[in-house]
Amino acid sequence: MLAAVAVGLTLFAAPAAPLPIAPVTSAAVSAQVAPAAFDPEATPQANRATVTVVAQSAGTLQVDVVTAGGIAVASLLAPTAVVAGQEQTLTWDGAGVPDGHYAVRARLTDAAGVAQDALTPVTRDGADPVVTAPAATPATTSRGPVRVRASAEDLSGAVAMRLVVESQLGVEIGRVRMPTPVDGASELAWNLRVKGRLLLPGVYRLRVAADDAVGRRGTGDAQLLRVARAVTSTQIYRLPEAGDKVALTFDDCLDSGPWLQLLAALRRARVKGTFFCNGVNVRANPDAARRTVAEGHTIGSHTWAHPWMTKEAAGEQRSQIAGDREIWWSVAKASPAPFFRPPYGDVDAGVRASAGAEGMAWTVLWDVDPSDYLKPAPGVLVERVVSKSRPGSIVVMHVEANTAAAVPGMVRGLRARGLEPVSLDELFGTASYLSRARRG
Ligand SMILES: [Zn+2]
Repeated sequence: MLAAVAVGLTLFAAPAAPLPIAPVTSAAVSAQVAPAAFDPEATPQANRATVTVVAQSAGTLQVDVVTAGGIAVASLLAPTAVVAGQEQTLTWDGAGVPDGHYAVRARLTDAAGVAQDALTPVTRDGADPVVTAPAATPATTSRGPVRVRASAEDLSGAVAMRLVVESQLGVEIGRVRMPTPVDGASELAWNLRVKGRLLLPGVYRLRVAADDAVGRRGTGDAQLLRVARAVTSTQIYRLPEAGDKVALTFDDCLDSGPWLQLLAALRRARVKGTFFCNGVNVRANPDAARRTVAEGHTIGSHTWAHPWMTKEAAGEQRSQIAGDREIWWSVAKASPAPFFRPPYGDVDAGVRASAGAEGMAWTVLWDVDPSDYLKPAPGVLVERVVSKSRPGSIVVMHVEANTAAAVPGMVRGLRARGLEPVSLDELFGTASYLSRARRG
């Protein structure tokens, strides 16, 4: 562990920052400053430094804030006659002075004109820590550990760094404490657990957040992490425990025209859906695929080429799912895992085993089928979806123009019944990302 930390430091040492000013004590005068770092720009309440100066003998006392070069940037006390033991309480609000390391200089000049100084360091820090994007190695893993390294630069010292784990859609899943940084750098051997649970297969975004001594937080850019391993795939038709949510899902993604119409309809309705696209269609429509992920929709695997899966050998089943997963990665740097929908709903224990082997923790069927592939009028489609949906329902539909046209009515109708249309990420919550068993 020590060796690993030493390696991290040589690679990630922060650029040389200006150093705090060394304290200077004097028998004639003393100066205390609290807190040692403060944030004049803090909201809702700015903070400031309180300075307590005690003269040990009689003379003339002057208190200034000075730079490392001894240049006064603020006057806290103009020359004032004091008696032995006299105490002065002063404040520095940092106004008009840039962030940086300074010192409070208390200067006592005696009757003979001899001056003695006490210097006490103080840091003005009105800026968020600047955090690098984490380096996570390896970038693809099954169970970890993943070595996460990041650095944070801050005047008052980044005292706490955390790994922020987000879904590929940018939803925060949780935070993991990182070791106390040394010279601004911290390194974590991360076991892929969030809240004690192992991350499911998929693509995740890692960020690092740093909190400094004055209470400011900085967050760095994201680094992608792919998690790929075999899991047990659970078949589901409906998720009653999801409460008043209903998942709208759209399959196949055959043509970019209806695909883009559907995205536009969902965007206007401010609703997220789920797209189970065949890999061959993702390859043919990469712009629509990228837009689907960028707009926050869940994606799931629907195989590469839509075969009857129970008729295929296990090796072919697995390559059908793996091909779909890999094209999503190469086109959109995203993953359909952990969601798999077998074409035609054609599934058995062997297909589920293949889905699990390729990282699909959920085999997602449906409890509401409005038969939109028969192209009913949008009004008919709306009526079927709204009347058949229950809390936790999963609605199977397809990427079709008349389905896109039915979206506004569907959303209004569901809401009128107290049901909220959502994506599978939203329906499942943390079960989209985290194993159920603590053992993972
Ligand atoms: Zn299909």
